[in-house]
Amino acid sequence: MIERSLVLVKPDAMERGLSGEIVKRIEEAGMTLIGIKMLHMDMALAERHYAPHREKPFFKSLTSYISSAPIVAAVFEGEGAVERIRKLMGTTDPAKAAEGTIRGDLGIDIEHNSVHGSDSVETAKNEIDLFFKKDELFIY
Ligand code: UDP
Ligand code: MG
Repeated sequence: MIERSLVLVKPDAMERGLSGEIVKRIEEAGMTLIGIKMLHMDMALAERHYAPHREKPFFKSLTSYISSAPIVAAVFEGEGAVERIRKLMGTTDPAKAAEGTIRGDLGIDIEHNSVHGSDSVETAKNEIDLFFKKDELFIY
């Protein structure tokens, strides 16, 4: 199935100039970049994007962190894009993520783990709509 996934380059990676590296790894895995922008998320967008985590103890810290600095948001399309990108990212905690994964190689700690990727096709649809208008996505 051709799927779409929303990817965010988080502030810890932006700070270290790693946005290109992260986009490159996903492109090299055969995913097609169909939308990209830089933005500074406000608290309202952070709370909507991470709404499924509202009750978690880390919610306040996470939403403050993700809205602390400009980020890159991107949409990738490709065969099995959701799972493919989750595999490239590695597990949530960089200390446990495999070598060769984005988080394993670049992540700092469980919060500052460099990258977000949608966890299902349904989530991806909602997340993409939060960040991109229809005419900001390109089909070719
Ligand atoms: N997170 C955190 N503490 C935790 C678990 C997660 O700060 O104990 C942050 C981390 O940045 C993670 C995000 O919350 O990427 C969303 O958590 P989720 O469990 O959805 O992980 P993901 O899907 O990003 O791997
Ligand atoms: Mg998640």
